[in-house]
Amino acid sequence: VQPPPSPLHAFRAAVRRAPDRTALAYFDGRIDYAEADALSDGLAGHLAARGLRPGDRAAVMLQNTPHFVLAVLAVWKAGGVVVPVNPMYKAAEIRHILDDAEVTAVLCADRTWAGFLRATAAEAGSVRIAVTADERGLQTRDDVRVLRDEPAGPQDGADDLLTAARTGGGAPTVPEPAAADIALISYTSGTSGAPKGATNTHGNISYNAERMRTGLELAEGATYFALAPLFHITGMVCELATCLANAGTLALAYRFEAGTVLDAFLEHRPAFTVGPATAYMALMAHPSATPGHFTSFRTVSSGGAPLPPALVEKFRTAFGPHIHNGYGLTECTAPCATVPPGRQAPVDKVSGTLAVGVPGPDTVVRIIDEAGRDLPFGEQGEIAVRGPQVVPGYWRRPDATAEAVPDGELRTGDIGFMDRDGWLYVVDRKKDMINASGFKVWPREVEDVLYTHPAVREAAVVGVPDPYRGETVKAYVSLRPGASPDPAELAAYCKERLAAYKYPRVVEILPELPKTTSGKILRRELRRRA
Ligand code: ATP
Repeated sequence: VQPPPSPLHAFRAAVRRAPDRTALAYFDGRIDYAEADALSDGLAGHLAARGLRPGDRAAVMLQNTPHFVLAVLAVWKAGGVVVPVNPMYKAAEIRHILDDAEVTAVLCADRTWAGFLRATAAEAGSVRIAVTADERGLQTRDDVRVLRDEPAGPQDGADDLLTAARTGGGAPTVPEPAAADIALISYTSGTSGAPKGATNTHGNISYNAERMRTGLELAEGATYFALAPLFHITGMVCELATCLANAGTLALAYRFEAGTVLDAFLEHRPAFTVGPATAYMALMAHPSATPGHFTSFRTVSSGGAPLPPALVEKFRTAFGPHIHNGYGLTECTAPCATVPPGRQAPVDKVSGTLAVGVPGPDTVVRIIDEAGRDLPFGEQGEIAVRGPQVVPGYWRRPDATAEAVPDGELRTGDIGFMDRDGWLYVVDRKKDMINASGFKVWPREVEDVLYTHPAVREAAVVGVPDPYRGETVKAYVSLRPGASPDPAELAAYCKERLAAYKYPRVVEILPELPKTTSGKILRRELRRRA
């Protein structure tokens, strides 16, 4: 695989090859490649005129809208570093990021700016530029105006994004990004501790986008649907950058809402999408979902979170497509192991775990013990990854970098094993292990069993302190519509299928499990609750 040095190079090549092709599709609004190029040039010119210099950090805090994509391209064209920020974040969460990354510019929704970000940015001190997107008319089909004619007008000291894009002139003359330059500072969602900024380089992104492009074997110009949020690394790389590398059309919906997403599938007829398993659970539970919604897909993928084998089966039976697994993390710029085209990931006979894929050709995955020594096939240990997608480290955190990426090899914090055919299996996160009377229990294994129960929609298992066992296994579940098993029945169901120390002693039913906005179930939140 010989990727271009940056996703911006890939975008420019797409503009040259297919200027008239739709780059962004949003309800019935369309922006073609030539327009996306002109608008992002204008916005880049505006940012530069306001004082954004090469290397400066710009926070992009927007939902899955055309504005998000224009903002990212513009920051890169101005030589800046994009700091994607979850638009649901509140003042304290974003304050940490503004300070840590010393952010110069923020690009966000006007509501966010007026609501609290103006004050937070003023406190942070480093922010000198604000550009806001008028998102009010962008959430539903009825009032969508992707390219509004009337500008939103002055905004509490911020400039309107689309006005700036139309009137900002040409892009500034700055050096094109090199492969080793930082493209993103991606703050981990904090499912474990205070967010650190992983520094994904242009080369990291471009490599993985090119791998995805060739691996998916889609026709040039295919339509990609952004199911995962673009502010998360899965969306940024597997959706946006991969689509640009293939001069494709990126179809967007404001944010994940099952009904809107199903409508968008019919409207845009995408060939590919990727999202967390919980998104597929929600689509499956929606009353209007039919197999007809999924007929345009060549591949549907799950990434960034565990994929229970029972979900793959239930989904295939109900709708047709086979959900492909993929394993990755922010620190390896989304995927580092995927299922090759035309193959199906095997399920391990002993543990029932579904393989996540095989590492790419330039990627070396090792299973190691505490001392960093290789473990034999089939044995469980920490997953370590070396390859062109692994970040050089964390932003201004030499301590955390030395710990997570010693000598350029990423210690993932995940426990896994490899079979003789080279398939990688992820057992669970090292830190989520439950120690019940000295026995190791991996929550994933118990969750996978719960997912085989027809009534279970979502499941999460945590350890809770116990005076006799040290920790005891507790399961939280949400149910499929109309299902009503009692907790004792679910516990008994697991007891029949798992060793005595593994089955959940307590099962609690909740209407819905807590999740990050990228759709991951938050075990940490449940532990706190327990
Ligand atoms: P943190 O803030 O703790 O780093 P995060 O959820 O923000 O967590 P991400 O980089 O988004 O971090 O998630 C990566 C993690 O998701 C992996 O380390 C792994 O535990 C899990 N994961 C990703 N893909 C899979 C998969 N296919 N199967 C099982 N687990 C997966």
